[in-house]
Amino acid sequence: MIEETLKKYYSEIGISEKVYDYCQAIEKKLKSRFDDIDTIAELNQAKVLHAMQETSFAEEHLSGTTGYGYNDIGREKIEEIYARVFKTEDALVRQQITCGTHALYIALSANLRPGDEILSPVGKVYDTLEGVIGIRESKGSLAEFGITYRQVDLLPDGSFDYEGIKKAINEKTRLIEIQRSKGYDTRPTLSVAQIGEVIAFIKSIKPDVICMVDNCYGEFVEDKEPSEVGADMVVGSLIKNPGGGLAPIGGYICGTRECIENCAYRLITPGLGKEVGASLGVTRNIAQGLFLAPTVTAAALKGAIFAANIYESLGFKTVPDGKSERHDIIQAVEFGKPELIQAFCEGIQKAAPVDSHVTPVPWDMPGYDSQVIMAAGAFVSGASIELSADAPMKEPYAVYFQGGLTYPHAKLGIMMSLQKIVEKGLIVW
Ligand SMILES: *Cc1c(COP(=O)(O)O)cnc(C)c1O
Repeated sequence: MIEETLKKYYSEIGISEKVYDYCQAIEKKLKSRFDDIDTIAELNQAKVLHAMQETSFAEEHLSGTTGYGYNDIGREKIEEIYARVFKTEDALVRQQITCGTHALYIALSANLRPGDEILSPVGKVYDTLEGVIGIRESKGSLAEFGITYRQVDLLPDGSFDYEGIKKAINEKTRLIEIQRSKGYDTRPTLSVAQIGEVIAFIKSIKPDVICMVDNCYGEFVEDKEPSEVGADMVVGSLIKNPGGGLAPIGGYICGTRECIENCAYRLITPGLGKEVGASLGVTRNIAQGLFLAPTVTAAALKGAIFAANIYESLGFKTVPDGKSERHDIIQAVEFGKPELIQAFCEGIQKAAPVDSHVTPVPWDMPGYDSQVIMAAGAFVSGASIELSADAPMKEPYAVYFQGGLTYPHAKLGIMMSLQKIVEKGLIVW
């Protein structure tokens, strides 16, 4: 009965019965995986709640300061809570950190000095970091300050090239950059356990090296964070998982007292550090977003698994595939053709709560080396914890899908993407 009403609602927003039935049959097979995700969410919910209770988070912390922001007790409390959740000595959680790349730049530039070298043991870094580091020539890059970079690619089977890593570590190696999520790449995302293994290996060779993890899209996907397996710093964006869809801006760095102190001096100024930075009125959203983040992340994960299974059943290569364990919320689908990417993105856009009437087109996005098409109709502009998809317009024409503040919305978006592809006659159906 309710099923019939649901079908009717879907048909009113443009999803055909055939698409609905097809998707419904696939979803039925995913129930036990969804149960496992709910268990992780339950664990992480308890973790976040416990951190708020243990730090005596209170009504008085919800309002903000202006101006310099001295004695901003809400800001200080949020940082205490983040440090507890990530199990680190300290944290820097600020709306003055404008995005994930900015947070990563602060973490790198704050803890490196001329003559130091960065090593990425997991291959290529995220596109925007190429500009930061100076792999791609860029004004103000770390390369201009005499900081060098080296990388060791993963082996063809996705495992670490321990031999190569050992060879690459030298007297200049100061900081290890480990990107957890695959980003715009088709390599597998690393599990927290794998990250722990590579950190242990590196520290056995050079104990005083700083291990930093680009944790973007990985927060709350597992029962542990990389900071629990040896990372000295974990870094991410508040408009992804940990902001829970409510944080309107911001980034975080959690880590050792020394690393965080350096980061605060870099973000603000030497001498001032953590003491300044008005929270304006954003603390409530950052706190409430963190509170919701475990279940929001779970919703996005279910959406990713649903998408993988739908498109895999239609014969497309998906990374990760429909069955593998998840270590981030990103789902890549290799469509191989620009028209399919376009149709997919149109469907995601059409399913958005904001800007559903616009048609996404490829554009020259700053920081990327090819055109990028993006579908997003988010409450927070650019928030990729909200239902969104993006694709660099180059081989292998893979679309990266992520987010969904609720599972029903993520599901609807995927059904709409398939609907668009079907309507354009791009698959044999
Ligand atoms: C999103 C992301 C970043 C940072 O991106 P911003 O758009 O600057 O927030 C860095 N690394 C990875 C792996 C990411 O997914």
